[in-house]
Amino acid sequence: MKKFIIVCGGVVSSLGKGIATASLGKLLESRGYKITIQKIDPYINIDPGTMSPYQHGEVYVTSDGAETDLDIGHYERFTHAKLTRKNNFTTGQVYQSVIMKERRGEYLGKTVQVVPHITDEIKRRIHAVSEGNDITLVEIGGTIGDIESLPFIEAARQLRYDVGRENILYILLTLVPYIAVAGEIKTKPTQRSVKELQSLGIKPDILLCRTEKKLTDEIKDKISLFCNVEKEAVITALDAKNIYDVPLKLHKEGIDEVVVKKLRLERKGKFDATLWQQLTERMNNPITDVKIALVGKYMGLKESYKSLVEAIRHAAANLGAKAEISWIEAEDITKPETIKELKSVNGIIIPGGFGTRGIEEKIKAAEFARKSKTPMLGICLGMQCAVIEFARNVLGHKNANSTEFDPRTDYPIIDLATDWTDKNGNKVHRTAKDNKGGTMRLGEYLCKIKPGTMAATAYVNVHPVYERHRHRYEFETKKTGEFEAHGLKVSGVSADGSLVEIVELAGHPFYVGCQFHPEFQSSLEKPHPLFISFIRKSLQNKNAARRI
Ligand code: GLN
Repeated sequence: MKKFIIVCGGVVSSLGKGIATASLGKLLESRGYKITIQKIDPYINIDPGTMSPYQHGEVYVTSDGAETDLDIGHYERFTHAKLTRKNNFTTGQVYQSVIMKERRGEYLGKTVQVVPHITDEIKRRIHAVSEGNDITLVEIGGTIGDIESLPFIEAARQLRYDVGRENILYILLTLVPYIAVAGEIKTKPTQRSVKELQSLGIKPDILLCRTEKKLTDEIKDKISLFCNVEKEAVITALDAKNIYDVPLKLHKEGIDEVVVKKLRLERKGKFDATLWQQLTERMNNPITDVKIALVGKYMGLKESYKSLVEAIRHAAANLGAKAEISWIEAEDITKPETIKELKSVNGIIIPGGFGTRGIEEKIKAAEFARKSKTPMLGICLGMQCAVIEFARNVLGHKNANSTEFDPRTDYPIIDLATDWTDKNGNKVHRTAKDNKGGTMRLGEYLCKIKPGTMAATAYVNVHPVYERHRHRYEFETKKTGEFEAHGLKVSGVSADGSLVEIVELAGHPFYVGCQFHPEFQSSLEKPHPLFISFIRKSLQNKNAARRI
């Protein structure tokens, strides 16, 4: 029998619902269950693809090319579940499906309403993702009481009647604040949110209490009594310094055991999270450190670089190091203090991005890394900047640019590839006039690695190599001759050989640009090979600098 776990949040937002859900997924997986996790976002946009990173943080890309909420990234980093576009949906998508159905006349003359038509569509999407899994965890975005999430809560309530009481449970993540002046822990906000959830017809089965002080027995008794939840299902979710500690902390609190009992899950062997435990221990007790500059332009919201930061952390932890990130605002690149900072780091990352702002500065950062022989990893836009820099300063094409930033450049080295083959073998024709939404090269594509290159060394244990994309502009292989002749080598190409996927600089310790986003495939248990190579070289760079 398929089981469902609904996770919603009370009191305030930003309590770490995504991490809590991913952690529970991890624990259930460690007990041998096949799980999947779905995130429902209560906004009207179809997906976050067209939202500014300042609004939404990072746009995460799944292997099948969906632009999703960054929580999907947490789920993939914590578990082995392979997630697709079905694992994230929004109010916009739900209404779009229902309205299209209405236009096709499929409601047979009925009045189309939130209940049952919208709620049916929500449940249909939850059922669709549950196929083939023992347990489906569904995280409902927003906070209980928001107008936007009401239809989702209602659908979650109805689900109990469709699948049966013993096959679904509801978790409420809530805040139990410590009031320092009074020296007391307060349970009232939790009581209020439970009431609010109950008024919507859902009685929570488990309360996950986010708190900075461990809940005493007395407090648990009180919460249990006032909130009508068994004491063993009142779980302390203590603030954690390291998000990767959360699963085992929650395990100690007994959450997975409570879930197993409440859902009457058949036991599937012993709990095994040995590798996870080893890696988090290594992460928490580093033997060395490494300083990495991230030259970006969405510095006001670090969440915009979530997967990237995590990928750096994964690689560093696997190499026994702690990564310190130096956040460099691209537009400050020529300031003396920024140059000083760049000189102090062991490696430089130039991440992806869109639009003209900060481009010239990122190009300068690429120049700095090239000339100073600092290990550099350029991702997507970062690779494009490295190519433009090389064209201008090594090949002498002073106006080289991407047509994204200068449509009239006389040396359009990065440009829209108008004709190429997509991953399904279809010929794609694209023009500059295409819509912004949904016109990118998105999702997983094969990358053919050239033997004898740095890329081949990095990917030595991976075959075939599939990487995730999210961009419009390309460096086409028909334009690479002059670059190769002067040392910027192509070390990875697309399946049909027409698009450059990886470039690297001969004679440099590590100067690699990739057109894809390797950070989307990194996890603590499986760090990404390019990040491993980059951090390894950065560590060597640090040690070499020490010896001077
Ligand atoms: N703006 C560039 C493009 O569309 C790079 C995108 C990115 O870095 N994700 O090709």
